[in-house]
Amino acid sequence: MRGAVLYGPRDVRFEQRDEPKIMKPTDAVIRIAATCVCGSDLWPYRGLQPVPAPAPFGHEYCGVVEEVGSAVRLVKPGQFVVGSFFASDNTCPNCKAGYQTSCQNRELVGGAQAGRLRVPLADGTLVATPGMPPEDLVPSLLAASDVLGTGWFAADAANVSPGKTVVVVGDGAVGLLGVLSARQMGAERIIAMSRHERRQTLAREFGASDIVTERGDEGVKRIKEMTGGIGADSVLECVGTQEAMMQAIRSARPGGYVSYVGVPHGVKLDGAEVFFAHVRLHGGPAPVRRYLPHLIDLIWNRKINPGKVFDLTLPLDQVAEGYRAMDERRAIKTLLRPQEAA
Ligand SMILES: [Zn+2]
Repeated sequence: MRGAVLYGPRDVRFEQRDEPKIMKPTDAVIRIAATCVCGSDLWPYRGLQPVPAPAPFGHEYCGVVEEVGSAVRLVKPGQFVVGSFFASDNTCPNCKAGYQTSCQNRELVGGAQAGRLRVPLADGTLVATPGMPPEDLVPSLLAASDVLGTGWFAADAANVSPGKTVVVVGDGAVGLLGVLSARQMGAERIIAMSRHERRQTLAREFGASDIVTERGDEGVKRIKEMTGGIGADSVLECVGTQEAMMQAIRSARPGGYVSYVGVPHGVKLDGAEVFFAHVRLHGGPAPVRRYLPHLIDLIWNRKINPGKVFDLTLPLDQVAEGYRAMDERRAIKTLLRPQEAA
């Protein structure tokens, strides 16, 4: 089997890798129908996060179960499944509380940019679709694996509900799907912060009512002007930088909610500023597994079309170009299709 391996900054190779095997009785091996490049993959790709040794890459996946371990009860060969980037047992106290990404037995799922993938804790991690999906639903089901689930968590953690004014900081795939999620949750006004025309268009398609192009303090000023000087009820921080985080906190009204789902890089909070901001902060690695059944249902019944965030589709052997296109912001998100026959 061949798959993507990151060697170092801007060095992704498509090369021979070991065929994934059942290693524990709770594992499954799936044949990947589609995978993609994540915004978080770009941090190590850009050299902003060290890559100590060549690492198989990719953590977003959907596909068909080929084989299951002897202890797997719920997942069956032949099923089309979607899973999250952290494998979880879905039975421990943290899972039961809806925080599967803090599962006591969690395991990172890596190496999904390949033809096949080993998924640990298959029964707790994978959710089967009602049947084999039609081809046009595959991108949306793949989106549920991470970006949609993360955008959904961002909206949920920011307490988005009917009538609320929502600000989304970040116009990457997660931010755009945060807009879609806020729309689904009934927000009245959704302000997307973006200065990129194609992304603004998609934000509007997903339900944004307003676009703000200013950033940093200027952006905060615009949000205050648009909300009677008060700030927004809910702010979704979907980037992970210091500027985005401060922009989010300062855009929320006293008593408002700020969620943060971008993997933080160098973000430092000032205790006094957080104290006087009077905002409720909640974020972290999205517990995508909590939302998967609902998201699959919305996709299956064509209520949402999150697959639109993929504006570039490549065969998996062109994975390096997929990274480049996202790094250079030529693509919002790259979908990769394995070519190898089953
Ligand atoms: Zn658990």
